Amino acid sequence: MELTYRRKNIYEEADEAQLSRIEAFAQRYKDFLNYAKTERDAVRLSVAMAERAGYKPYAFGDPLSAGDKRYYNNRGKNLFLFTVGEDDIEKTGIRILAAHIDSPRIDLRPVPLYEKAGGAFFKTHYYGGLKKYQWTAIPLALHGVVTLFDGTVKEIVVGEEASDPVFYISDLLPHLAQKQNERKLSVGIEGEELNIWVGGMPAKKAKKKSEEDDEKGTKDGVKEGVLRILRRKYGIREEDFLTAELTAVPAMPARDVGFDGAYIAAYGHDDKVCAFPALMAQLEYEGKGTTMTVLADKEEIGSEGVTGMQCSLFTDLLDEICAARGKNVRAVRAASECLSADVTSAYDPTFSDAFEKNNAAVCSCGVALMKYTGARGKSGASDASAEFMGKIAARLNAAGVIWQTSELGKVDLGGGGTVAKYIASKNIDTLDVGTPVISMHSPYELISKGDLHHTFLAFRAFLQ
Ligand code: MN
Ligand code: MN
Repeated sequence: MELTYRRKNIYEEADEAQLSRIEAFAQRYKDFLNYAKTERDAVRLSVAMAERAGYKPYAFGDPLSAGDKRYYNNRGKNLFLFTVGEDDIEKTGIRILAAHIDSPRIDLRPVPLYEKAGGAFFKTHYYGGLKKYQWTAIPLALHGVVTLFDGTVKEIVVGEEASDPVFYISDLLPHLAQKQNERKLSVGIEGEELNIWVGGMPAKKAKKKSEEDDEKGTKDGVKEGVLRILRRKYGIREEDFLTAELTAVPAMPARDVGFDGAYIAAYGHDDKVCAFPALMAQLEYEGKGTTMTVLADKEEIGSEGVTGMQCSLFTDLLDEICAARGKNVRAVRAASECLSADVTSAYDPTFSDAFEKNNAAVCSCGVALMKYTGARGKSGASDASAEFMGKIAARLNAAGVIWQTSELGKVDLGGGGTVAKYIASKNIDTLDVGTPVISMHSPYELISKGDLHHTFLAFRAFLQ
């Protein structure tokens, strides 16, 4: 009998058939990632996938009966998918997977456009916890919606097609960076320096102008040039930005990394690397139980607002399912279980100082179970019980899932949180389970394909 605990490496354990399943799943994930860069994109794509899998939209008041597969699209930014089972949910509870589909990014401000020194720029306000210097000198795409005052909503995506232009945040050349180099890394690039280059050709004054153009004048030559293109291509004027929601995200597509392609680098692994496996596990679920997958928004800024995990919509839907089945929702919540499906930091040998190796998740050693997150003395952590963690671990073992445990890093170095505590606060046992990520919150994060697949296997085993 082996007395010593050792991590297993997925690639060491996998046979040829398993390796090809890992690769096939990774290909589908990359396709998902390349489209679903924002929460709106992720919801749009997930709804299409759900409908293909037989899920129908749910509206409050709709009758629900056993066997139903439904989805609730919350404002195009947050999605709930659920199956109504034949089980007695006061005893079996509801199995819940909760991942988030928002990622750190660079949002445009309400009055973004200005001209300076022959260039046109957008002012921005970053979203989520990011190292600002990493977002300079990379290709950026614009995603989002513009709502016109007449109620029309225009979807905008620029920078994803090879023929599209991209956008750009500049950094200072090293030759002139002596003063900048003395700044602390955290302010190497400051918030007010995250300005996006969006144009450089002045509008031609000789060009025949409409009355509207006359009113604006042509003093802002380049700004005017950009506004004319926006008008022509998207039918929007400068004031339409006031009510828009536009964001700059990295324009780079997901790519295999390494000679052996063991890893995937991409924007938005946090938390699509958990959201996609959760969605796939939910859509493949053919059991008789009651299950729910939540794809939440706003996790990166505290799960606030009407599309965040703290919104009452989550419990409203549980209430409706229970009412339809004639069950006491308090009993159902007490019996329910949730995996808070979110990423964790992977041990990075280059920055080994930040980790305590025995308790860090190691790439390719499986999906990570996090008993607690939080900062300092576990502040802000949900801290799952040993009983619940043991129960989940046993289920994963039975399904042949390779898993490990994880802590974010060394004690007192920092910390973080997930949606776990908001679900646990509803009297639902919740455990953080997710994929280890290298360079988390950077524009181009790294994960192991093996960990991705075992994240899916874990979620599938959990729902069964
Ligand atoms: Mn996350
Ligand atoms: Mn995050």
